[in-house]
Amino acid sequence: MSRLFYQTRLERPQLDRADGIYMWDVTGKRYIDGSSGAMVSNIGHSNPRVLAAMKTQMEKSTFGYRLHFQTEASEALAERAAGLAPEGLNRVFFVSGGSEATESAMKLARQYALTRGQAQRYKVISRMPSYHGATLGALSVTGYAPMTAPFDPMMRAMPKIPAPRAYLDGLDPDDPATGAHYAQMLEDKILEEGPQTVLAFIVEPIGGASTGALVSPAGYMQRIRQICDHYGVLLIHDEVMTGGGRTGRFFAAEHWDVAPDLICLSKGFGGGYVPLGAVIARDDMVEAVLDAGGFIHGHTYAGNPLACAAGLAVIDEIEENGLMANTCRMGAHLKSRLSDLMQKYPMIGDVRGEGLLLAFELMADRRSKTPLPVEFNAFDRLVEIAYQNGLIIYSRRTRGGLSGDHFLVCPPMIVNEPQLDELIGLLDQSLSQFMAEVPS
Ligand code: PLP
Repeated sequence: MSRLFYQTRLERPQLDRADGIYMWDVTGKRYIDGSSGAMVSNIGHSNPRVLAAMKTQMEKSTFGYRLHFQTEASEALAERAAGLAPEGLNRVFFVSGGSEATESAMKLARQYALTRGQAQRYKVISRMPSYHGATLGALSVTGYAPMTAPFDPMMRAMPKIPAPRAYLDGLDPDDPATGAHYAQMLEDKILEEGPQTVLAFIVEPIGGASTGALVSPAGYMQRIRQICDHYGVLLIHDEVMTGGGRTGRFFAAEHWDVAPDLICLSKGFGGGYVPLGAVIARDDMVEAVLDAGGFIHGHTYAGNPLACAAGLAVIDEIEENGLMANTCRMGAHLKSRLSDLMQKYPMIGDVRGEGLLLAFELMADRRSKTPLPVEFNAFDRLVEIAYQNGLIIYSRRTRGGLSGDHFLVCPPMIVNEPQLDELIGLLDQSLSQFMAEVPS
């Protein structure tokens, strides 16, 4: 028995090596990494530029505590990240993962409110379903009962509004009235809670595992910005999964040309090479907090030079190889191939997403959007069948009465058409095996 444990008893073969979009276990079996791990390995595995940058940095220093030294790598990465962020968001606070980014953004928002004499503002509204991280603070804004309920007494659960799942509600996501309809739920919630108590709203511009690549409906992101401005509520974009080019833009919110007050970034920022994340904040917010005595927050590995050197090389690779343009092209190809599968398998009730953050959802009935019976165990079974066939796709137990069985198909941004066709072939084969198992 292994000494190691994770969430469940799930046993997996030992990983031997990985290169590009492929991974091999120690028996020599090859897998297509069709989910970039957990939507992390955006530029693929074993990228020579990143490995070389890490080696160079390793030979100089691997740790410089932030209270003792600045490092060239962390300064340079902060500069690059700020350069990619919307105007006015120029200050970068490094962390080592997505949950830390969520925590840091909420704490910075709170301290900024205190500098403005708004001690009564502490509520962070979020959406149901949503995922913002596994630590207790991040869980308080996570909209997913199976993960939060056991810890309820240990945290202050924050107010939630429904995520804009137009496809389930029979609304047209391209109609601006749909965006306005869901954004109104935010205004209603702010008024219900009392605007003077609401600190921030945290939102994934394009959803990740919780909603299965849910793209915000037309006008939603813009309207939310207006509502937040009107009530003095800070807007946090959680771009932990979407940031770093996965949707075809460096930040997903660029699709709507809206700027938040704070951005959370992680997964693709380190690209699977190092644990790395960041909060990018409005300059004046950071100045106010620093002037008032400082940000009461920080983690030991923040701004680690090795992590930052890798992060810089990841951005170089994305920019110099046109990986965001490739993501748009390959995303369109993959989406159309997934839509072909939707024609073939009536159980696929929806295909959605942007760039290479794509998902399909299985349903018992497409028209009524009836979910599959829970006992079909689709989220586990289909992932398992695909895995046995050498294809990694991503699913999360999203049930709890909230969602259906959606599967993320998110290969690295370096993927090409023949590789996507190979991926679709394996998915087709896996779906037909799964359908054969399903009671008629
Ligand atoms: N926020 C979003 C949108 C995520 O998708 C995730 C992870 O899946 C997190 C936060 C938490 O990140 P981490 O698992 O690195 O703590």
